[in-house]
Amino acid sequence: MRMTTASTCCYCGVGCGVLIEHDGERILDVAGDPSHPANLGKLCSKGSTLHLTGDLDARALYPELRLGKGLARGRTDWDSALEHAANVFAETIREHGPDSVAFYVSGQLLTEDYYAFNKLARALVGTNNLDSNSRLCMSSAVVGYKRSLGADAPPCAYEDIELADCLLIAGSNMAYAHPVLFRRLEEAKAKRPEMKIIVVDPRRTDTSALADLHLPILPGTDVALFHGLLHILMWEGWIDRRFIDAHTEGFDALKSLVRDYTPAMVADLCGISVDDLQTCARLIGSAPAFLSLWCMGLNQSTAGSAKNSALINLHLATGQIGKPGAGPFSLTGQPNAMGGRETGSLSNLLPGHRDATNAEHRAEVADYWGVEQLPKQPGLSAIELFEAVRAGKIKALWIACTNPAQSLPNQQNVHEALAACPFVVVQEAFFTTETCRHADLLLPAASWGEKEGTVTNSERRISHVRRAVPAPGEARADWAITCDFARRLERPAARPVARHEPHRHRGAAVRPCRRSVARHECRGHASPAFAGGPAGDGEKPSRQPDPPGAEG
Ligand code: SF4
Repeated sequence: MRMTTASTCCYCGVGCGVLIEHDGERILDVAGDPSHPANLGKLCSKGSTLHLTGDLDARALYPELRLGKGLARGRTDWDSALEHAANVFAETIREHGPDSVAFYVSGQLLTEDYYAFNKLARALVGTNNLDSNSRLCMSSAVVGYKRSLGADAPPCAYEDIELADCLLIAGSNMAYAHPVLFRRLEEAKAKRPEMKIIVVDPRRTDTSALADLHLPILPGTDVALFHGLLHILMWEGWIDRRFIDAHTEGFDALKSLVRDYTPAMVADLCGISVDDLQTCARLIGSAPAFLSLWCMGLNQSTAGSAKNSALINLHLATGQIGKPGAGPFSLTGQPNAMGGRETGSLSNLLPGHRDATNAEHRAEVADYWGVEQLPKQPGLSAIELFEAVRAGKIKALWIACTNPAQSLPNQQNVHEALAACPFVVVQEAFFTTETCRHADLLLPAASWGEKEGTVTNSERRISHVRRAVPAPGEARADWAITCDFARRLERPAARPVARHEPHRHRGAAVRPCRRSVARHECRGHASPAFAGGPAGDGEKPSRQPDPPGAEG
């Protein structure tokens, strides 16, 4: 019998609703869900071929363990696998302290999976060594939003695309990367040809083909461009003085910074004409509603957070935020990078957009989780984490739903790190990934269509991911694996944290927490600010291109 289950596409941050057709055992087809507000029934070629991706021959079907680096892994049962992992982690923590272990997770996980890993690492083990592959793509946007707006919370929705009068797309080929959203933009432009589209990208792309104005700036000159635009907006009187006075701080410092970014200097630096620069400023400055969209071209950069802040500054200076069709809108690449940000799945964050370095935030989360306190010691970010593994400082590493042996930069170092790490656990749906070759313990995870939970898309819409068919073999949901391991690690006999008094448990079980995001935001930051300095990281104009980024 054919059945239909409404779920969410697992590929990108657009977060399209899909209808899964299945017979209770196998997924047979997928179609767009007309009732889902993110895509209104549309799917791109990736989403519409989701049912063809579940290659059973490549699936990890049961736990596999090896007891020595030179040995082959052999099949084992879940009990033995997780007991072994708990014993090794307990012993490692007992001997070398909680920061000798680490967890590297993924923007492809569901929010519930993320949350379980967070609680395991910070509350039970007592380490902030938990980072996500989202570090490679979204951390610049996180910093930009927090520094400029006070909260990592994109203040826009997809409907703003139809409502904008001028739309600037920077560092994003959204025709390819966010296709369903781009179709939405194409339709909006077809209905309202007076809507102006500006594309900032060194490349000529399918996205730039839709633009009224394409600025093919030299790589690495984004901050100079945004400062140059602000210079013209100020000079021409296209800023919103009342909004600035009411809602921002630090404007005078920003004004003196961009004074030097004259049109001639910026045009020369960016490799574009003064006319085009002036046109761009005029389109922004005269638009009733100005929306910006950006993605990896700004984020994957050594100056990514400065680029984010400099772009957000344009919105704050013109008052183009917090109204229909306006605002700075970062597009997320991964299906649940935003869920990771909500659950604190970067080493410097805590659930509910809290900061791991903030004592009050740590106390709030510790209180809710029922532990004395959370670790103060800063955790390692993705690149630092693998360097620490390579240096022998991390002795037990848990990797879930990501393939660092293919996707991280400096591959040689990553492979050396994984080969040298005394104990590598890989929690993964497919045994064929490069990282699985380094696994001392391979734990089979359920994949899309086989597990239940939530994801948060670019516009912070939380969608239900529903289970349509059972996972093959002995594969289990990621959060269930994590909680099972945590319970074993928590048991008094195995529990390693007794000698690390600060994180001692008050007896709370590892249980999901559904509170926090809204609560924190309500208390949050009503006034956008130029906080942290208008120049972002103090980036100076430079012709130096950014080094190549890595996949997020
Ligand atoms: S746009 Fe993204 S979320 Fe939508 S169907 Fe395509 S890959 Fe899936």
